[in-house]
Amino acid sequence: MREDDLRPSENIEDRRGGGGRFAARGGGLGIGAVLVLTLIGWALGINPATLIGGAEMVAGGGNGAYQSAPARTGTPNDQVGNFVARVLGETEDVWSAVLPAQANRQYEKPILVLFSGATRSGCGTAQSAMGPFYCPLDRKLYLDTSFFQDMQRRFGGGGDFAYAYVIAHEVGHHVQNLIGLLPKVQRAQRDAPDRATANAISVRVELMADCFAGVWANKMNQRHNNIDENDVREAVRAASAIGDDRLERQSQGYAVPDSFTHGTSQQRVHWLTTGLKTGSMKACDTFQRQ
Ligand SMILES: [Zn+2]
Repeated sequence: MREDDLRPSENIEDRRGGGGRFAARGGGLGIGAVLVLTLIGWALGINPATLIGGAEMVAGGGNGAYQSAPARTGTPNDQVGNFVARVLGETEDVWSAVLPAQANRQYEKPILVLFSGATRSGCGTAQSAMGPFYCPLDRKLYLDTSFFQDMQRRFGGGGDFAYAYVIAHEVGHHVQNLIGLLPKVQRAQRDAPDRATANAISVRVELMADCFAGVWANKMNQRHNNIDENDVREAVRAASAIGDDRLERQSQGYAVPDSFTHGTSQQRVHWLTTGLKTGSMKACDTFQRQ
């Protein structure tokens, strides 16, 4: 993937470096909460999927205090920050055209928060172990770029386009929020008769975000002709490496379908490819087909 043509976004809130150290104060987080957080982080930290109604709800508003460095907003100068800014800028340009054309909505650009370690989010505590996520309440994307190294180390899922896909997936959740899907989903999950039903809904939301990431890549490539088959293979490898079935087998030796919340490897590859081939949001209706 070539990113030199991509316009760097300025909608980056940089809280890295010295910021975001978590300092429990007063009550702090109970040992139970910390344990739960650690477990969730362990389960989700290797997953570039959002945490809608996940760990952040357990973390609540966060009982700790943060010593955050004053956030700088704008395009970061360092290499990885600049890369993220360019990918984000391209999602802004693409979705500003695609959303009105395909969904009759105006695109509102989200803020991407870069952090290291832990930081406060509108959905509770953001910790790097959770992996990147989108908070629908403050409409911000949260990313600790050490996640990219994690992808490379743990799944061999590295490469610029694979990293871009992770960002585009989170932006996909923002698009879902803008088209009014996320609030509906949250209601449906609240009313779900059991956990399995709620999880099945989550899977559809995640697969749609994968498909939207594919739609974005399709349009980016039309504009810049900057990805090739190797890039796509890279992203597909990442998508298949981070499917829930594979994660679960790695961690407990077997897969439990009802606890899947992000889709199987095969499903993730299928939906990413669908978006990539069609460039159409309509083709991403994971609630009709799975
Ligand atoms: Zn997700």
